Order: sequence, then structure tokens, then C-alpha cells
Amino acid sequence: MGLETYQKMRDFRRTPEPRGRVSKANRRRFVVQEHHASKLHFDFRLEMGGVLKSWSVPRGPSLDPAQKRLAVETEDHPVEYLKFEGRIPQGEYGGGEHMRWDSGTYRLAGEGDALSQLERGKLEFELDGERLRGAFTLVRMKGRVGEWLLIKKQDEFAEAGWELRLRKPVGGKETLDAKAKGKAGGGRQEQEAGAGRSAKGARGSRGAGDRGVRKFDTGEETKGERVVPVSRALKAKELKGDVNVRVGVEVVPLTNLDRVYWPDEKLTKGDLVRYYDEISKYILPYLEGRPLIMKRYPSGIRGQSFHQHDVNEAPDFVRTVPLEVEDGGGHEVNYIVGSGKATLLYMANLGAIERHPWHSRVENLDHPDWFVFDLDPGEGVRFETICEVALTTRDVLARLGLESYAKTSGSRGLHIYVPVKAIYSYEQIAGLAEQVATAVARERADAATVERSKRKRGRGMIYVDHMQNARGKSVAAPYSVRPKPGATVSAPLEWAEVERKKIRTGDFDIKNMMERIGRKGDLFRPVLKKKQALGEAFERAGGLLEGGRARGARA
Ligand code: MN
Repeated sequence: MGLETYQKMRDFRRTPEPRGRVSKANRRRFVVQEHHASKLHFDFRLEMGGVLKSWSVPRGPSLDPAQKRLAVETEDHPVEYLKFEGRIPQGEYGGGEHMRWDSGTYRLAGEGDALSQLERGKLEFELDGERLRGAFTLVRMKGRVGEWLLIKKQDEFAEAGWELRLRKPVGGKETLDAKAKGKAGGGRQEQEAGAGRSAKGARGSRGAGDRGVRKFDTGEETKGERVVPVSRALKAKELKGDVNVRVGVEVVPLTNLDRVYWPDEKLTKGDLVRYYDEISKYILPYLEGRPLIMKRYPSGIRGQSFHQHDVNEAPDFVRTVPLEVEDGGGHEVNYIVGSGKATLLYMANLGAIERHPWHSRVENLDHPDWFVFDLDPGEGVRFETICEVALTTRDVLARLGLESYAKTSGSRGLHIYVPVKAIYSYEQIAGLAEQVATAVARERADAATVERSKRKRGRGMIYVDHMQNARGKSVAAPYSVRPKPGATVSAPLEWAEVERKKIRTGDFDIKNMMERIGRKGDLFRPVLKKKQALGEAFERAGGLLEGGRARGARA
């Protein structure tokens, strides 16, 4: 138990929240906070193990035993948070006003200590607060690891029909239910959010039209602050400070636009946002409907970075999907799903430099619609050699009857994509990719390897990485920026360019990518259109490795 996640997720130069530390004392205090983030919710926190175990309760707690309230696990908070009230700036994690709704102490009721009860998935306790009193249970929902129910038990404090009163009324309404149903503007937001979730995330594509916006509501937290159409806001030569931009019907707060992300090039967060705004039409089709792995660089490419899987506090317009974290031992959190431009810019504002989509889409998560080879060169490999190995990969795939497409990784190597019908399992595809990579490594034994251990690989070798074809893995999307010197971008290539071996991965960056698209168009478009069947490839793949040696290194 610790506060590392809590601290990494926040920029304490901007947020008034306490940095905090793990405390030695354990005084069994609790707090319930009313949090006017982009989505109003309540945070329920119990002191134990030196921290505050925390849950986000969308509808708030209830004294009515009939009202079981969803409570989503969030990161441990420091005990200093018991006293915290204040306004977290827009654009920061959980931006919005935070106020104490209730506080007091609790007494454990169930068997065993608090932490072991939690581990078992059922915590029983009695609250002694101003508003909340009596016995409660927190129960983990079966099969949904991060989700719990907060339930009032029957006792003298239980109250059928009890209604939660907000401390800060919203839209003139004092209760949460009234707000949810009829808040000015809230209706629209709810409708939109709902539509977005059911309509395969198709929303946001209308973001292109900044003018002609329909009835527009700036929302609670942007009241009184100016909202500028995104196209106009990003026209400024130098982007500075904070601005709320209108993207389609959404408002995206952009903050600290002058923060330097690439020190050598003096490129800022504003430059990153501007790039994603310009490129949105081209990159979005590769992100649409796919869970995105979010790695944040809030202080630029030389600062600390961290993976943020849980986007529990994202604004309404951001589509999310609960998924198990791959490395998290069955822990389930909300992933951002690629959708419109507003989400693209929202992520950029969080310092997410890259776009890392899954190989499959939410509607069909178990079946990737492309697979990839990541040619990752060791020290001192000439780019010409990387091009040669890419061509060998293309040719091996061609022998299986498969077309493939190349792009720069934006780092040092090349990526090769094979678009497929989304009907094969990750396991089937990983098996095929391994056979192909192994064949490539055999044909170019002088330059390429499938050895996973960096140490054993030998310097000067290109790793034909086929291991990214598992569920939850990803490579940087086409047109994704990379957190590398030069603000390089992953650029789709023509095979003829790879054959000429003249291009370099550093040739493409956030300043010239649009110009290249202007000349070449979107070279990766076939990756979305060409849905290749693999039946024949599966059959022929076994043959790849027979007699492979006879071909010689330069076949
Ligand atoms: Mn919160």
C-alpha cells in the first residue's frame, strides 16, 4: 500500500491537493466528498493501513437500504485528504470543485481487520458522521474486480426514500436525482454521452465543423470562462497558458500550453495539441473504437512518465470501457476508447504524447483486425539494413498470400502491418506472426533475430518483434507522435521508398507530417480496408521453415 499512484497522477505545482504521506497512526476516520468534476460524483474514503482506501460513487451514498450504490475503486489517497476542499484546475486530474460532504469515524463490524475484509471482498462497518450513520457494507461485485456496491444495512438509521442533498446545488437543484434528470445542459450531455456509448463511438467525427454548432452549453465548470473554437485558438503563433476550446459540441480545457515538452527543439504542449488537431482526420480512423493505452509525460519527454490505465475521472465526452489491466493481476479499470477529436485533444492535454491503440475494437475485442512486426534495431544498425529486413518480411508474407504495409516507428525502426479479417483469435495470429518472424530471421540470419533477450541478441542485430500481437499489446499508431528528440512521428511509407532505402525515421515529425500527407495522401488506408483471410496463410506457414536455410542469407 502506498501513495505512488496518487502522487504520479498529479502535478502538485498545479493542483491544491495535498502531496501527503503514508501515516503511521490509524484513527478510523472516513470522509465523503462531493466532487464537481466534469461528471459530478462522490468520493468515499476510509482510513486504513496509513492511507485512505477510496471509491468513486457516481450517485453518492444512500441511507436507503434499497439503494445499492455502485462504488468504483480508485487509487489510495493520503490521510491529508480527509481535510481537503478546493478547486482542482481544469485539465488536471479530477479537475473541478472538491468539497467535504460528510466526515467522521467508523467502527469495523465484520470478522477480521479492515484490510483482510477488503481482500475478501466484503467490508462491514458502522459510520458515525453528520449525515451518514449506522451500518454499511461494501461488497465487491462478482466478476467485476474494481467495482463494489455500497449498501446501507437495516438499522435505526436506515431511511426508506432518503434523498441525497448536494452541498452545492447544480442547475438550481439540490438533489442529485433532480440534477441527473433535468439539469440545464445536463440533459444534453447525458443524451450525448449515452449516444456515444451505444453508437460504436462514432461521435466526435462531427468535430470537424466548429461553426454551425447547435445549442451549446459551456457546462458547469467552464461557466464564466471564455470558450474559443479550437481552430481559432490554435491559430495563434505561440500558444500560452490555458484556454477552453470548443471541439464540435464539446468543450476541452487546454492548460499550460507553453510547457516545454521537447527541450532541444523548444516544442511545447501547445505544439503537440496543434499537431493532433491538424492530423485528427488522418489518425482517428486508426483509433476509432479501440482501447488506448495511455502513457503520460506531464513534464515533457525528459520528465517522469507513467501509465494511466484508469480514466475514471474523464469528462463525459470521453468514451471508456472497463477492461482488465494486463499487468494488474485481474484488476479492472476504465480505458479510454478512441473516438472523436475532443478525446484526441483531451489526451494530448494530459501529456499523452503517443497513441497506442489495441489491435482489436471494443465491439469485437477478441479478434484483432491487423497484426504487426516491429523491427527494432540494436546499436549501430544501418537504416539500409532495417529496410532490407522489412523487405524480407514483406516477401515472406507475400509467399503466404498476404499484403503488408510499412511505416516508420517514429523511434529507430520500422513497423509492418498486416490487415486481416477480424475473425481470428489473438492466439492464432500470434502463432502465425511467430512463424513469419522466425522465417525472416532465418533468411537474414546475418542481420535479424527473434531472440527475446536483448543481451543474447548481440549488438548490431535487428529484433523482429512479433510479440506485440497479444491482447492488450500495442505499437504506436500511424501518425502518432513519439516522445523522442525531434518530436518524430510514425509515418506510413510506400514500399518503393523502403526499396530506395533513402528515408530515415527522423525525417518525419510534427512539423512536416501534414505536408507529406498533402503530397502522398494517407498511405496506410489499405490497412483499414483490406481485410485479408488467413486460411491459406495458416496452411502455408508450416512450409516457410522447411528448407529456409537453403535460401541463404541473401535469398
Ligand atoms: Mn473524485
